[in-house]
Amino acid sequence: MVNRRRFLGGSLSTPVLATTGGRGATCSAHTGSSRVRPGDPAWPAHSSWSSLQRRLSGRLFPLRSPLGSCRDPESAACRELFRELKNPYYIGDDPALTQTTGWVDAWTSRPSAYAVEARRAADVAAAIDFARDHSLRLVVKGGGHSYLGTSNAPDSLLIWTRAMNDIRLHDAFVARGCSDEPAPAVSMGAGAIWVRAYDEVTTRGGRYVQGGGCATVGVAGLVQGGGFGSFSKAFGVAAASMLEAEVVTADGLARTVNSRSHPDLFWALKGGGGGTFGVITRLTLATHELPPYLGVVSIPIRASDDAAFSRLVSRFLDFYVTALFNPSWGEIANIATDNTLEIEMAFQGFDQARAAAIWQPFLQWVEASPEAFTLVRPPLIRAVPGNRRWDPAFLKTYAPAAALSDDRPGASPNNIFWAANRSEAGHFIHAFKSAWLPAALLEEHRRGNLTEALIGASRHAKVEIHFQKGLAGGRPEAIAQALQTPMNPAVADAFALAIIGSEGPPAWPGLPGHEPDLAAARRDAVAVTKAMSELKKVAPGSGSYVAESDFFEPDWQTSYWGANYPKLLAIKRRYDPTGLFFAHHGVGSEAWSDDGFTRTLRQEAGGG
Ligand SMILES: Cc1cc2nc3c(=O)[nH]c(=O)nc-3n(C[C@H](O)[C@H](O)[C@H](O)COP(=O)(O)OP(=O)(O)OC[C@H]3O[C@@H](n4cnc5c(N)ncnc54)[C@H](O)[C@@H]3O)c2cc1C
Repeated sequence: MVNRRRFLGGSLSTPVLATTGGRGATCSAHTGSSRVRPGDPAWPAHSSWSSLQRRLSGRLFPLRSPLGSCRDPESAACRELFRELKNPYYIGDDPALTQTTGWVDAWTSRPSAYAVEARRAADVAAAIDFARDHSLRLVVKGGGHSYLGTSNAPDSLLIWTRAMNDIRLHDAFVARGCSDEPAPAVSMGAGAIWVRAYDEVTTRGGRYVQGGGCATVGVAGLVQGGGFGSFSKAFGVAAASMLEAEVVTADGLARTVNSRSHPDLFWALKGGGGGTFGVITRLTLATHELPPYLGVVSIPIRASDDAAFSRLVSRFLDFYVTALFNPSWGEIANIATDNTLEIEMAFQGFDQARAAAIWQPFLQWVEASPEAFTLVRPPLIRAVPGNRRWDPAFLKTYAPAAALSDDRPGASPNNIFWAANRSEAGHFIHAFKSAWLPAALLEEHRRGNLTEALIGASRHAKVEIHFQKGLAGGRPEAIAQALQTPMNPAVADAFALAIIGSEGPPAWPGLPGHEPDLAAARRDAVAVTKAMSELKKVAPGSGSYVAESDFFEPDWQTSYWGANYPKLLAIKRRYDPTGLFFAHHGVGSEAWSDDGFTRTLRQEAGGG
């Protein structure tokens, strides 16, 4: 269900207006070192847009900001818009929106000038050729979940892949030109979202595919960051399962890439960052045997004071090392500012009774000190048959509080999303930082320091420990395969990714009635910086996950990709010599201004 009414409202016969007033733009003729904006003399003439429209069979649209309905902030339409901004499907169906509305002092979500609603590789090639030939800023959007704002850019041409969402299972896939053993796999259009992939592969197909945790994240966006899901300690990063991709490069050629054909580009796509090397139109991931049971554990425990909280966190880490630091367990423990330990773990491979037995000693220890520890809710330990884990009908019946629905009239009943992700729908980010925590910190003699750092950090902001986003303790094959991707090898030595963030409700600076509270946002940002610096005391230079990281990440090249960066940059230059593709802190972006419109370094001196 696509919100086409509004953006179809504009037609190509309407004169195109600059969408932002050309922030920082020179209105001079195109010089070759900067991209053009609406209003610039070199902006394509109407006849050029019309010929692109013909090549696309009508799938080119001018975009309008949905905020037009908020000229009167009290209007019913504006109220409805802000209600829907908590529905990730509504956002995903509108090419003028992104799942994050903005980030204080970093970026604000704004629509492109035009969007191409791509349905096939030829549409993507047409958009790429047009943007290249007319020196336009090009941007690609799949699920629209980029925290860094890399799937929106005002004054740009957008390639929107939402409609390329077919999913096909294979019993015996062999990548083109390869002689590998045929293997079960799934091919997905670039615009498919994970909940659809899981439904096809797991509910209907009885197999497992490694994707992400959030239901509405796009498959191509996630895979190009690396991609972690609850069970990544067992099945690895999503990118490592990729057998083949179809990608349209800056020269407009659609290429099939795999371990034999363009292996360098194939490698770069497995974690080198989205929107950088070309536009993926389809990708194929190996599927895995589905574990008979998949389960969750939810145990929130409040400590009576700081000293008790420190004991609780310390004991939990001991328990983690002895019972959970293995391929069966993933997900999150939050160390909260109010002395609560929020345990939200996931397991695979065994049943509920076994899971309960594993947790019993820890729970016994907690319950033995009622004066120090309170279970905020009774512990929840639940397993379901593997093939029900992402089954929309099953979840709506048996886990209605966990799986929310797209409530628009006529929405597909399969449009579900996790209640846990609702706060992030349309959120305005105050701060977001992540760091891999080396497994060495779990060694007995260092665990005390780790506890101290976690508690110290939690005095400033809640610390989320995402265990499945560090592969240490995982299956050796999963670790070995991750090391064959361009991700920072720190991922293999880390037992978890620590994430510290803060956010507010959907907001746009300057929009009456819906402005972000900038003072509060900046205060939160300071607190998050202080919290992360406590962790950095025990994990200096530990690296960060590109897809879930700070907009202001210092030394991002090393942080995201470590020693792999020079190779990624060489591949970027080979396939995109003029830097057509630009993403904030993407490979080669150091050669461009922050908005990606002006080349600031010659290619030899910097990026692609
Ligand atoms: C609520 C939420 C939960 C998340 N949970 C997880 C998680 O569990 N595990 C995890 O690993 N990550 C997670 N992430 C991070 C997520 O993986 C990244 O934000 C990812 O890049 C989103 O992909 P997308 O297609 O939805 O986003 P988009 O914003 O559309 O795309 C992200 C980037 O990829 C580019 N891109 C998209 N499609 C293509 C394409 N076809 N070809 C080339 N470039 C393309 C875009 O230009 C952009 O630069 C989460 C993010 C959010 C907001």
